[in-house]
Amino acid sequence: MLFHERIDTIPMLLTGFASSSTATAPSPMPTLQVELQSMSPLVVGVDLGGTQIRTAIVRDGEIIARVNRMTPATEGPDSVIAAIKETVYQVLQSAQVGLNQIQGIGVAAPGPLNPRTGIVYEAPNLQGWIDIPLRDKLTGHFDKLPVVVGHDATLAALAEFTYGAGRSSLDMIYMTISTGIGGGIIADGKIIDGVIGTAGEVGHMYIDISPNAPRCGSGHAGCLEALSSGTALARDANDMLAEGRAQGIQAVYQEFQAQSPDVEATATDADESRPLQARDVMVAAHRGDPEAQLLIKRAANAIGIGCVNLIHTLNPQVIVLGGGVAQSSGTLLTGPIAEVIKERSFVQPGKAVDVVHAQLGGDVGLIGAAVYVDYVLKHGGHDPSHHGPTTV
Ligand SMILES: [Zn+2]
Repeated sequence: MLFHERIDTIPMLLTGFASSSTATAPSPMPTLQVELQSMSPLVVGVDLGGTQIRTAIVRDGEIIARVNRMTPATEGPDSVIAAIKETVYQVLQSAQVGLNQIQGIGVAAPGPLNPRTGIVYEAPNLQGWIDIPLRDKLTGHFDKLPVVVGHDATLAALAEFTYGAGRSSLDMIYMTISTGIGGGIIADGKIIDGVIGTAGEVGHMYIDISPNAPRCGSGHAGCLEALSSGTALARDANDMLAEGRAQGIQAVYQEFQAQSPDVEATATDADESRPLQARDVMVAAHRGDPEAQLLIKRAANAIGIGCVNLIHTLNPQVIVLGGGVAQSSGTLLTGPIAEVIKERSFVQPGKAVDVVHAQLGGDVGLIGAAVYVDYVLKHGGHDPSHHGPTTV
């Protein structure tokens, strides 16, 4: 889940730059105070990304009010944490809700992190984030409200499991395919997060063990992220361009460029000599460009092999594909993935699984953060016999 926050931006670009993701006005509900007494509890969800902090009041998976602000990512952890607190108070104020009406605060953070301690081990997109006790730095600032911190992709999985594409299942794997590839595992209705909380990194399953396999952002050669992420698609398209190919993909890039040069200028990997991005490949593939389709098919095959590994290991009922690349892919990914599963997995678990698109869109992390409050209160978070006490 490297660069998780960019998940939201690709569909936005595909729909013609219809909205800006940088400044969403709070949307108070005038009748809220009257309704409060008789309904499910309100929770605050925070989705901490490298670009944006998105904070919302959520009830039953529905966002009631929200505040977005830019993450002061280069100013160090204290500034980021101060900004989180500010957004919580802003969103409460915008909805005219008091802390005493809130059940708890859930934070989806980039990882790796430990959800039992609320310590973020590292966050590559946030400067200075090494072993930051995020939960403890927030607890105590909101009266005695419980604060829980979870991994963004895990909480996205929880959101899809509770309200989205996995809601009729007990065994679900979520895979987010955007700039990076991340994931979350739900088995028998519970989050599987491992001994120190870092489980679910499906993007770093090894798929290609050949000596020249490409590397992911973490330096692994041949992992799924190195083969099938948005970054990998862009890399392969730019390699083709350097060889004088990929003209169809370049044409899409130029169209986007003409529509909104500003957006292009802020792209993370914008480079004059390597300008093509994953969304250019995806749009070109939808238009029938054979080179783009080849790149997508190759990425889909690797995802299919990853799914087969997961099917054999965990026997899931549903594999949910989220993230910008997957969301904009239609059947370009799911078609080849289904073929690979049919070809390579044991017959029964292969038949038992559905590979489907996520349903909650860009708010999945935010909703997941909110759902996690209730999850921890209900399940006690984690098995204390294995992991020591869970404090919420
Ligand atoms: Zn990797």
